[in-house]
Amino acid sequence: MKSIFVFWILILSTIVAFAKPQVLQKVSIHQNDLELTFDSDYDKKAIKYFALDNPPRKVFDIPDTILAKNAKRVIKNSKCKAIRVSQYKPDVVRVVIETSKAYHTRTYRPLLNSNIYCIPLPKNIYKPKPKTTHSNTHHHKKVKKPKKVIKDSYIMPTSKYGRDLVVIDPGHGGHDSGAIGGGKMEKRLVLQIAKRVESELKKLGYRVYLTRRSDRFLKLSQRTKVADKKDAKVFVSIHANSVPKRARNRAYGIETYFLQKTRDTKSQRIAARENTAVLKGAKTKLSKKVIIDSVLNGPKIVQSNKLAIDVQRHMIYYLRQYYKGVKDGGVRPAPFYVLVGASRPSILVEVGYISHYKERKRLFTSSYQKYLAKGIAKGIDRYLKNRKKELGL
Ligand SMILES: [Zn+2]
Repeated sequence: MKSIFVFWILILSTIVAFAKPQVLQKVSIHQNDLELTFDSDYDKKAIKYFALDNPPRKVFDIPDTILAKNAKRVIKNSKCKAIRVSQYKPDVVRVVIETSKAYHTRTYRPLLNSNIYCIPLPKNIYKPKPKTTHSNTHHHKKVKKPKKVIKDSYIMPTSKYGRDLVVIDPGHGGHDSGAIGGGKMEKRLVLQIAKRVESELKKLGYRVYLTRRSDRFLKLSQRTKVADKKDAKVFVSIHANSVPKRARNRAYGIETYFLQKTRDTKSQRIAARENTAVLKGAKTKLSKKVIIDSVLNGPKIVQSNKLAIDVQRHMIYYLRQYYKGVKDGGVRPAPFYVLVGASRPSILVEVGYISHYKERKRLFTSSYQKYLAKGIAKGIDRYLKNRKKELGL
């Protein structure tokens, strides 16, 4: 009897140990070591370690770990260019040590302290590489080396440009929560992302108008007419997707829509779902056909299609640098009401499926939202620059 009891205690304690992530409480420098202090015994073998060049970096990935809120993110030290600590993934903490020269190190666990991990730092003081001096006075500017090899020809460095206005429309709001998955609401998610898109666009030199900044319901006209009134260059509506229960494990990925009549049943289904909420708030009695026909086959469709392609490609590009299994659902035509009436290139982005467990988890992290927003902003920037070139401006 007693042995069975002990056995159960053992099993239970193992389960508890595996279920709860450890906390990295403190990152500090002690003598010449970087010391990572955990809240409990950690598994030294689980820590993944690799080195990168240009500049030389040592990277440590610590799984099943949460970085304490008050732990330092950047540690200053004379031996390194930088020491950075971050919550790299929801359950992985990453420590990066950047140095002037690659160096050899042997990490260790102090004899008397089983919750500290030590990484020896280089012996010499950090010396930045001498900068190339401007001995010649040619007019070409120094070109910064890109960090990553960029294969896709459509991704080009962007620069500040103009003060054009972009309208960002976070879908739903107020009594209309949009899609719901795992207790999470589309209306909240898309507002968070929209605000991030706004700050990314501002960094690129654009003016931004958000159709809503809080949790409130908007009529259809409040969403689209504003784009015309304010003379915006483009209109981007942000939404999250959802499918019924039976398909929720299969459907995931990022899709961008532009307005067009479509025979594609998938696009029609999604459009139907997004339209119901929008039409509830619309006073207009125009029939579906009239609204759609009034804008079909105009030159705006070509431009909306181009904008959709740029935005979609950039979202996928940025996310794939940091996440595995990002699905490119492509650019599709769809008759969304929200896009009707905005007499400028207009698209609707479905940032992912809130009904898909894994994608939903990612969508609600700040890191995933950041790269999504960056992709949307860079895509808009790319489109507008190409458009100016086309018009000879
Ligand atoms: Zn929606």
